[in-house]
Amino acid sequence: MPELPEVEVARRQLEREVAGRKVRSVDVQGKGVVAVHRSKADFTKRLADHKVKSFDRRGLWILGKLDKDDIWAVSPGATGRFFRAKSGKVPRGLPIKLSVSFTTGGSVHLLDTDDTAKKFVVAKDELADVPEIAALGLDPLETPVPWSTFGGVLRTQPRAKLKALLQDDSLVAGLGSLYSDEILFHAGLRYDRSPDSLSAHEIRRLYRSMVETLASAVKHGGVSFDTDDVDMFGNRGEFDTEIEVYQRQGETCHRCRGTIERARFQKKYTFYCPACQS
Ligand SMILES: [Zn+2]
Repeated sequence: MPELPEVEVARRQLEREVAGRKVRSVDVQGKGVVAVHRSKADFTKRLADHKVKSFDRRGLWILGKLDKDDIWAVSPGATGRFFRAKSGKVPRGLPIKLSVSFTTGGSVHLLDTDDTAKKFVVAKDELADVPEIAALGLDPLETPVPWSTFGGVLRTQPRAKLKALLQDDSLVAGLGSLYSDEILFHAGLRYDRSPDSLSAHEIRRLYRSMVETLASAVKHGGVSFDTDDVDMFGNRGEFDTEIEVYQRQGETCHRCRGTIERARFQKKYTFYCPACQS
């Protein structure tokens, strides 16, 4: 499942490949537009013949700025990713749910096996009315905030567990299990610590770990745990080789030579080093 770094990699590629181009035609095959638009035709009409000026991001939402102050919003869901054929030819059998062709410069496609990605066009000033976007908390890859602000956010839920807080989109946008585990390892903190037990020094360490881990993941092109986790051109992310704990149970900790453990947390597994994290 894509998390913040993978979506940021996609945003940068869209900005480089597609920004400034005018949409010629739109073909929707997936379900994900119906909730916001009256029909697929309504979505198509608001995107076709418009220029995409640039791409922003809020959490896992990629926001294409269109002329006329409209926003083309896409969120990847569990399996969505963009695809751009180098040769212009699209291989058969891909799970294409949306194709956008440009007047110059080919097309991009949204691939989505589970059909859980969302896509719609709204006026810029209506974006704040979309509940999933309005509710997003701070974005650790965007504007930096003082670590004390982050501490204040955590302390709104003093007895919750750190891993649950990192994965709560209303506090910190776009983190899932993998990056939460990696961030907690680099911060030297256990997943089940609570904000009310953290010193100021530990909060600062956690904030720094979050910003640095995510920046490093973007630099490495994100992760490619599944064969489908590739970028727009089919390249694999290289952050897999930087992983310290996620899915490494039973293996040796790179830092202390102890053994990485796995525990149940909120019906899923969490991975940590009992010696390095306390
Ligand atoms: Zn260790």
